[in-house]
Amino acid sequence: MNERYRRQILFDKIGREGQEKLLASRVLIVGCGALGASHAEMLSRAGVGRLRIVDRDFVEYTNLQRQTLFSESDAADRLPKAVAAKNRIASINSEVEVEAVVADVNNSNVESLIEGCDLVLDGTDNFQVRYLLNDACVKHKRTWIYGAAVSSYGTSMTVIPHETPCLRCIFEEMPDAGSSPTCDTAGVIMPIISSISSVQVAEALKLLVGDTDSLHRSLIQIDIWQNEWRKIKLSEPVPDCPCCGLGRYEFLDADSQEFSAVLCGRDAVQIAPPRPTDLDLVSFAERVAPFGEVKQNEYLVRFNVDGHEVTVFRDARAIIKGTSDVTAARSIYSKFVGT
Ligand SMILES: [Zn+2]
Repeated sequence: MNERYRRQILFDKIGREGQEKLLASRVLIVGCGALGASHAEMLSRAGVGRLRIVDRDFVEYTNLQRQTLFSESDAADRLPKAVAAKNRIASINSEVEVEAVVADVNNSNVESLIEGCDLVLDGTDNFQVRYLLNDACVKHKRTWIYGAAVSSYGTSMTVIPHETPCLRCIFEEMPDAGSSPTCDTAGVIMPIISSISSVQVAEALKLLVGDTDSLHRSLIQIDIWQNEWRKIKLSEPVPDCPCCGLGRYEFLDADSQEFSAVLCGRDAVQIAPPRPTDLDLVSFAERVAPFGEVKQNEYLVRFNVDGHEVTVFRDARAIIKGTSDVTAARSIYSKFVGT
C-alpha cells in the first residue's frame, strides 16, 4: 500500500481494508464549482480510485476566491472546469483516474453519468439538476449527497434511496425561481464551502468504507458567520413521496428539458441545444471571425458581440455573458450558433 495514505490507514474507522475500498471506488461529482472542486480535491487526496467529474462551465477569475483546484492560468486559458480539475488532480495524486466530462447535466445524460459509480456527490448550484439527480439516483438505487451553500449559510443531506428520505420527501416542490438567495445576489464566502463540502466528503468516506452506522442521518444546516450549527434528525421516507414513494420520476421523464438557464453567480445565461451535437469548433471559429477577435482552445470558442462575451462549447452549448435576459441571450444564440 502506498505510503501516502499512512495517516488515513492509522485512523481506525478506515484502516487498511477501508483504504483498499477507497482505491477501488468510483465517485461521480456533479458540478465542479466551489463545492465540487473541494470534493474532487479531498477525494483524490484520500485515494478514491476513480472520479467522474462533470461540469458545463469554464474557469473565471471570480472563481479563484473559493474554488481551490483552479489557478490564474486556468482562468486565463478559459479551461473547462472539468478539464482544469483533471489536470490539477494529476499533479496531486497521479494514481487517481479522472474522467472529465464537459457537459450540462440533463435528463438525456444523467442516467448514463451515474452508471458504474458507487456514489454521487452534489456540487451543483441549482435545484433543477438536484431534482433530476434525485430522480435518477432513486430510480437506480444510488446513494447521493446533497449539498448547497450561499452567503455564509449551507445545508447538506445524504440520500440513501428507500432507506432515508429523498430530496422530494423533504422539499416536495422545487423552490420558485427567484425565491431564494443565490451566489449572484447574496455572494458566498469560502469557509461555508469548506464546511459543507467537508460534511459531504466525510459522509462519502463513511459510505465507501461501509461504516453506515456513523452517517449523520440528518438535515445539516450551518451558518458559519452567525455561528449556528443545526442538525435536524431525519426519519423514514415519506410513503406518498412522488419520487421514492410512488416511483414517479417527473424530472427524469419530463418531455423537454429547459432550453436556457440564468447562471448562478454570473451575469450570464446558458443556452443549450435540445439535443447535444458535436460542433466543429475550427470551422465555427472561422464563421464568427468577421465579427471580431476570436479566441479558442480545444474545448471552446469565445468571441464578443454587442458587448456580450459569447462562449460556445463542442456540444453546441453557449454561455452568453453580460446579460441575465434569456430572450436577449436566445436571440444572440440563434443568430450566431443557430437553433
Ligand atoms: Zn422521497
